[in-house]
Amino acid sequence: MSASDSVSIVIPVFNEEANLPELIRRTQAVCRNLARSCEIILVDDGSRDASRDLINRSVAANPGEIVGVFLNRNYGQHAAVMAGFAQARGEIVVTLDADLQNPPEEIAPLVKKMDEGMDVVGSIRVPRRDSLFRRFSSFLVNKMTAQVTGVVMHDYGCMLRSYRRGVVQAMLQCHERSTFIPVLANSFARRTAEIEVRHEQRREGASKYSLWKLINLQFDLLTSITTLPLRLLSIAGVLISLLGVGLGALILILRFIWGPEWAAMGVFTLFAILFIFVGGQFVAMGVMGEYIGRTYTDVRGRPRYFVEQIVGQSRLKAP
Ligand code: UDP
Ligand code: MG
Repeated sequence: MSASDSVSIVIPVFNEEANLPELIRRTQAVCRNLARSCEIILVDDGSRDASRDLINRSVAANPGEIVGVFLNRNYGQHAAVMAGFAQARGEIVVTLDADLQNPPEEIAPLVKKMDEGMDVVGSIRVPRRDSLFRRFSSFLVNKMTAQVTGVVMHDYGCMLRSYRRGVVQAMLQCHERSTFIPVLANSFARRTAEIEVRHEQRREGASKYSLWKLINLQFDLLTSITTLPLRLLSIAGVLISLLGVGLGALILILRFIWGPEWAAMGVFTLFAILFIFVGGQFVAMGVMGEYIGRTYTDVRGRPRYFVEQIVGQSRLKAP
């Protein structure tokens, strides 16, 4: 915990050829200004464009400063960051997106905050430059996560963050497949802080998150931190049953008031009620299946990712 702690910068890269040259140039400039030992770890998450070549070339041109980790296919941003963590040697580990939405220049204030003895420093994007839909889903996620973990952070989605070595080590020991790093980190952190950072529009290329990937991510997040949905399920089940009992009583009373003819027409009401039940059961099975599926993949114990090759040698000494 001193102003000379070494820094590892981990950047996941997936088809970012258009952003890489500027990203590397600006990150290197930041490293020089930091004036402490620094390494940049570029994790290629199975890119199909020229990203791989670009990383290879920058590693060759900057020995000791840049390390490339190549995954054999696309495993997703969080798995890629984990692969980077496994290589990181610095006392402080910073993660950053490759698309220049988080300006690399913001690393300096982040590291400065870490020097105050923080375990995790997050960042809040102001002003946020994403679509309304993204902002809304982020809002939901942040509220939910804060509620469940008890750690109030305003922006769990922003990956411009820094972690102390111990927290990274703890995260590496978590072997579940679906991880959401900012949340996982907070479960091991004692002192956390947040700083405000600038947020830019994505420079080149499109977001690598389709709607489907986003939905997956939200599910990962939810099931990785809590079994609350299972409990909600039982509560919902009880409520639905009570509703059914109430409606049954109501129909019985109305039958006495309006006679049997009305009751025959009430068959349709019963159908409606039945549909509610069937719907509820399907939701229940879906959520249960979600957990069972996760148990299944974790029990299989497959590696979360597979490193094909590591190029370059960091000048930081192994911890
Ligand atoms: N990324 C990755 N693997 C993926 C998707 C994304 O390594 O499967 C990287 C991507 O290259 C970028 C970061 O994760 O560095 C964030 O992705 P993106 O900017 O597309 O997400 P958004 O800003 O839309 O949340
Ligand atoms: Mg982005």
